[in-house]
Amino acid sequence: MTTSTSPLTKPDLSASGTGAGTAAQQFVRAEARTAHNYHPLPVVVAHAEGAWMTDVDGRRYLDLLAGYSALNFGHGHPTLLAAAHDQLDKLTLTSRAFVHDQFADFTAALGDLCGKDLVLPMNTGAEAVETAIKVARKWGYDVKGVPADQANIIVMSGNFHGRTTTIVGFSDDPDARDGFGPFAPGFRQVAYGDLAALEAAVDDHTVAVLVEPIQGEGGVVIPPSGYLSGVREICTRTHVLMLADEIQAGLGRTGRTFACDHEDVVPDMYILGKALGGGIVPVSAVVADRDVLGVLRPGQHGSTFGGNPLACAVGSAVVSMLTTGEFQTRATELGATLRERLDRLVGRGVVGVRTRGLWAGIDIDPAVGSGRQVCEALLARGVLAKDTHGSTIRLAPPLVISAADLAWGVEQLEAVVTH
Ligand SMILES: *Cc1c(COP(=O)(O)O)cnc(C)c1O
Repeated sequence: MTTSTSPLTKPDLSASGTGAGTAAQQFVRAEARTAHNYHPLPVVVAHAEGAWMTDVDGRRYLDLLAGYSALNFGHGHPTLLAAAHDQLDKLTLTSRAFVHDQFADFTAALGDLCGKDLVLPMNTGAEAVETAIKVARKWGYDVKGVPADQANIIVMSGNFHGRTTTIVGFSDDPDARDGFGPFAPGFRQVAYGDLAALEAAVDDHTVAVLVEPIQGEGGVVIPPSGYLSGVREICTRTHVLMLADEIQAGLGRTGRTFACDHEDVVPDMYILGKALGGGIVPVSAVVADRDVLGVLRPGQHGSTFGGNPLACAVGSAVVSMLTTGEFQTRATELGATLRERLDRLVGRGVVGVRTRGLWAGIDIDPAVGSGRQVCEALLARGVLAKDTHGSTIRLAPPLVISAADLAWGVEQLEAVVTH
């Protein structure tokens, strides 16, 4: 491991080289020179394979977060690593000023996976959401005939769509939002899961409804059955685009390729990210038919790194792995086991459990401790998980985890909450 020493820091003489030191020493050093926009658990990972991570002291941890679903295929999946290694030696970046030989295959494969005509690749999730917002507004003016600058987009309570100033402006999480205004206008928030509220909020200037089919960051909040098909029906009837943010819920996590599939709903636009990059590179995209994405003209949107050859090579491998259905099946089968085991904890340190596929939101009894305290106790037992809001823990194990490892991980949780 090599890192250059910043001219502002004196070299750490207690360490035998840069990046050296015990996990505890490295944790302190890492925290000392970064903005405190995260509150990481005190672990310093050096290596990982499949569902297991190893820290700098050689301690092993079972990863039950999987990079917030960015690592659906686990750490270092051989197929994905091979695609990346292979591409690294050939071509990594052209910019979109030129076409490269990985682009056509990736966009065709992803478009086919979604059953849509066109793909617009970006890098991070937040950029894909911003792209969706721009496209929806443009569609509203060019196709729906909304008067200039009058478009509104309906968003949900409890949403999480990323961290840009526009996006946090329509969040209702004070931590995400407070202190970062002024915010972009043009968004209306309604209660997640409430179709009547949505219907009442739509007017002639509404261009889109932006919805997470399951709210991941919100704590794996699953809307009432029939909600997504209801959103689809309202959008179709009122000539409004349904934008599904499947960045965390999509690409196998819930047991289907897309979380919308559980209600046989096809949105007008899929917003994808996280697992699309295979845990190797940031890859995001919006995917829609020509009558929607076709509104963009040269110069109206772009990204230097979006759709680069390395991203496309890895993204193509991800899509091809999803076309076999193997990972969706694993998520369903392991998810059933996870559900069964978590249900046994309800009333024993856990007050509520929500699952869909291999994805769980677990509400910890406040008498046991905060979500953070439970995650710290799990860490001590060799399990990595993350709290979301206060007393909720989200589990999103890599879909490659073995049934035995998953069972062991839940046993550790049981030991912590029933202690
Ligand atoms: C993570 C996430 C985003 C933002 O993705 P970044 O890559 O962190 O910008 C947006 N929407 C949802 C639903 C997410 O889970």
